[in-house]
Amino acid sequence: MMGSKVQYAVIGLGRFGGAVTRELFNMGREVLAIDANEDLVREYSAYSTHAMIANTTDEATIKALGIKNFNYVIVAIGDDIQASILTTLILKEIGVENVWVKAQNEYHHKVLEKIGADRIIHPEKDMGTRIAQHLVSQHVIDY
Ligand code: ATP
Repeated sequence: MMGSKVQYAVIGLGRFGGAVTRELFNMGREVLAIDANEDLVREYSAYSTHAMIANTTDEATIKALGIKNFNYVIVAIGDDIQASILTTLILKEIGVENVWVKAQNEYHHKVLEKIGADRIIHPEKDMGTRIAQHLVSQHVIDY
């Protein structure tokens, strides 16, 4: 990727995907925001490089988005586990290098692992772990 910018896409603009999108954009990164919900896409057009309405469970739709060559795609679809799995499967099948996916539960996690998700995120659990580490490192500094 020498000479060209790293490209990110975020699918699902709920609290998690929305925060990822805003932070990437704030850090000056190139980020494509995608959601099936038109209102969210309109809102995120101000917090992303591009924002698009799409249902990502459709392979033709994903191909038309041109995200095959994006460096990172974050799948932040929550409640609809089937949509999350199908989206991840299509992304890996078309050859996206790094697909990071938010998991809803352990069953979801296992399936994501099998279909080749590159990183599986459990926002509350991961944040709890990090906070505990911060608490301890804070204590080390205080001590
Ligand atoms: P959070 O906890 O991060 O707020 P959540 O777990 O409640 O999220 P949802 O709100 O269920 O997650 O999903 C996040 C977003 O994903 C929603 O805005 C929804 O419109 C979008 N989404 C769901 N299915 C699809 C799909 N097939 N294609 C595109 N976007 C989708």
